[in-house]
Amino acid sequence: MYTCANCNILACASEIREQLPTNCPMRNTQTVQELFKEYKKDCNSRFYITSSSIEASGYCQWPRLKETIEFCRSMGYQRIGIAFCKGLKKEAKIVSDLFRTHHFQVVSIICKAGGISKEIVGIPEECKIHPNEFEAMCNPIAQAHFLNEQNSEFNIAIGLCVGHDSLFYKYSQAPVTTLVAKDRVLAHNPCGAIYCAEGYFKTKLL
Ligand code: SF4
Repeated sequence: MYTCANCNILACASEIREQLPTNCPMRNTQTVQELFKEYKKDCNSRFYITSSSIEASGYCQWPRLKETIEFCRSMGYQRIGIAFCKGLKKEAKIVSDLFRTHHFQVVSIICKAGGISKEIVGIPEECKIHPNEFEAMCNPIAQAHFLNEQNSEFNIAIGLCVGHDSLFYKYSQAPVTTLVAKDRVLAHNPCGAIYCAEGYFKTKLL
């Protein structure tokens, strides 16, 4: 089993290849070489080099929002898709307007698209936020479908729920980046819980 998160050697981040941990994935040299060929494919090469260039251009200067705009511009995209959570509608509009200011076409789809009541998909009444009231299910598959239908070239996820985001990624035909990872408690900053995992949040995470 690979355990990079627990490795203190980090030979991968240097040119020194001695002392690889016994379970280091880099010991699979043939696999690493085979996988490297993927970056040379037309479908990945420019995308990868552009994303790495953006990383360097705005390193510690550009917020992710600016990086996303610059990435889309560098890739020459014209039509951007936004899949957003109803709870972040205001933020989605700000992002959408900003991209339009930068001369992109923007298609946006809210999570509630379809307006299907939660119980129809099998969500128990007690698992609704307000039991016995109408609650529209989040519909990430429809979000992906409608953006696919509109030929978005690159999709931005804003605040989709855990798991709903996974289905959106699964069904989106265009590549997806996540601009906002939803965290209702920490102002959409999941790292807050990580930073405090050994302190104030210790018991909250058990
Ligand atoms: S790739 Fe190898 S050296 Fe790098 S973190 Fe993982 S185990 Fe450690």
